[in-house]
Amino acid sequence: LFAGPCEFIFASAKAGDLPPLGPPEIAFAGRSNVGKSSLLNALTNRKTLARVSHTPGRTQQLNFFALGGAPGAERLRLVDMPGYGYAAVGKEKVASWGVLMRDYLRGRASLTRVFVLIDGRRGVKPVDAEMLDLLDQSAVSYQVVLTKHDELKAAERESVLAATAEALAKRPAAFPDILFTSSHTGEGIAALRGAVAKLLAE
Ligand code: GDP
Repeated sequence: LFAGPCEFIFASAKAGDLPPLGPPEIAFAGRSNVGKSSLLNALTNRKTLARVSHTPGRTQQLNFFALGGAPGAERLRLVDMPGYGYAAVGKEKVASWGVLMRDYLRGRASLTRVFVLIDGRRGVKPVDAEMLDLLDQSAVSYQVVLTKHDELKAAERESVLAATAEALAKRPAAFPDILFTSSHTGEGIAALRGAVAKLLAE
């Protein structure tokens, strides 16, 4: 699944402008700077993916990529969601971001899981909790991925894992297993691939 190319297929910039339904979709969300681009590159062994999503103008879009086959024959779609919580973004953009996200999250039959990236050094912050609220309200299954594993000591990892588990305990759409990754050391990347592959097998 991750050995072949991962080609860009579609950018959705406004509500109602989504690609026709196809194979299962897995989406990646997280606040700006959480390490989403780095993780997507590590996951797919590509540099192009993040380059596309980091192109100015595309950062406020949902970017769709084909995985496990050429576009049109892909087995899975990877969806890079726009980063949130960036202080310099104006109110208007935050509002249009919310509309775009809701539009996608509600009633997208092929959306199988959202991986929510949370900075391992920070844990679940209010801006992350808002994203989790939106996912719970939309009844979309999601799984938390803590990033920047390499930045923490063992004891710090234990405490952020425990705090995150507690933050998820009463959330109806949360998948209980928490992944911990590093794009720098490769920690957790195989586990993340495994989690994605398992979704396809279900
Ligand atoms: P994005 O804004 O979520 O797409 O984040 P980026 O992937 O662009 O990364 C943001 C910053 O975090 C950059 O300075 C990266 O070098 C750094 N970063 C990303 N992943 C890791 C990681 O696994 N470990 C460490 N230590 N830094 C990381």
